[in-house]
Amino acid sequence: MALINEHFLKLSKNYLFADIAKKVNVYKVAHPKSRVISLGIGDVTQPLAPAVIEAMHNAVDDMATSEHFHGYGPENGYLWLREAIVKNDFLPRGIRIDPSEVFINDGAKSDTGNIGELVRWDNSMAVTDPIYPVYIDSNVMNGRAGTLGADGKWSNVTYLACNEENHFIPSLPQHRVDMIYLCYPNNPTGMVLTKEELRKWVNFALHNDAIIFFDAAYHAYIQDDRIPHSIYEIKGARKCAIEFHSYSKTAGFTGIRCGYTVIPKALSAINMDGSKRYALNPFWERRQSTKFNGTSYISQRAAEAIYSPEGKEQVKATIDYYMENARMIRETLHKLGLTVYGGENAPYLWVKTPKGISSWKFFEELLYGAQVVCTPGVGFGPSGEGYVRLTSFGQREDCEEALHRISMWMK
Ligand SMILES: *Cc1c(COP(=O)(O)O)cnc(C)c1O
Repeated sequence: MALINEHFLKLSKNYLFADIAKKVNVYKVAHPKSRVISLGIGDVTQPLAPAVIEAMHNAVDDMATSEHFHGYGPENGYLWLREAIVKNDFLPRGIRIDPSEVFINDGAKSDTGNIGELVRWDNSMAVTDPIYPVYIDSNVMNGRAGTLGADGKWSNVTYLACNEENHFIPSLPQHRVDMIYLCYPNNPTGMVLTKEELRKWVNFALHNDAIIFFDAAYHAYIQDDRIPHSIYEIKGARKCAIEFHSYSKTAGFTGIRCGYTVIPKALSAINMDGSKRYALNPFWERRQSTKFNGTSYISQRAAEAIYSPEGKEQVKATIDYYMENARMIRETLHKLGLTVYGGENAPYLWVKTPKGISSWKFFEELLYGAQVVCTPGVGFGPSGEGYVRLTSFGQREDCEEALHRISMWMK
């Protein structure tokens, strides 16, 4: 008799984006002539860089000849891509990572969702609130999160509130935790941590023998040179942190699928009776070779191409395009008297709802008043109530039109 994994029953039926789509559809049915514009979109819209397209065409041609055909690749990714990563993403920042510490994957969602397998199910965890839902939900599935309370919080999860009072900078937990998920630049708030702030977390983790899971999916959007792109810019981080990267937002790879995870050889954790420490890099290598058969050769060649001189320039141009959208949104909303956070080092803007109305109420008002879609902040966690998230991933004309409508509506 097969018994279900009961933890799945605990998952909230919180299909945020499905709920949004439903409400937008209701509006569209009642107003068939009006064109709704989304500033809630969490996916990129600009085409891939020409250097990437060329590399993919070449990779396809490789597959067409027996001489250059590629079957199963190394589970951890091709060495030429891991070397390009080390050389371009880390060495220029003074970080020495060995290619054997880099694991190529099919995107950061898989690895941020799976990484919890490295440690016992009864470790305690902390997350910033609001947060990318994958970190919590993946831990609900393996039983680590406990049970969901009436306050919308899981019993075994420590929530680190990020709000106006602390300027969206989480405070250290008051008690020990074993696992800490951090995402900077942050989705959904668009806020960043300075080196000094990040250093506090590394020191906390070292002091408590905790592991930090650092999601750097948006590092390419950082404009301020003082903001760290990698947690390994902080001394001691290679002993306590795993870092996730993704080409999805960096280079528009949401439909291509490629990213990577760094697990330094110096990172270790202790066994139950406290008698021995084990490096986690070999654990992950073992895990991947059992459960993962590598990212496609074509995707990896595509990723390699963003590190070429042309690739770098083209990818940067697209990021600049999105960041110009972000600047416009920020400026316009600010002029309209709204309180806006983020959008300076990230493609996300975190907007306070006026007069303290709820996230969902403002979502509806914006939809019916300006035919613009946003994402209710409460969908990212209890501390997101009273905010909505806007993204800069749209087309320029749509962004301009949406801002024009919001301006007319607010006046
Ligand atoms: C989009 C996103 C990712 C990237 O996911 P992929 O699986 O690489 O497409 C990772 N983390 C956060 C917080 C994201 O918003």
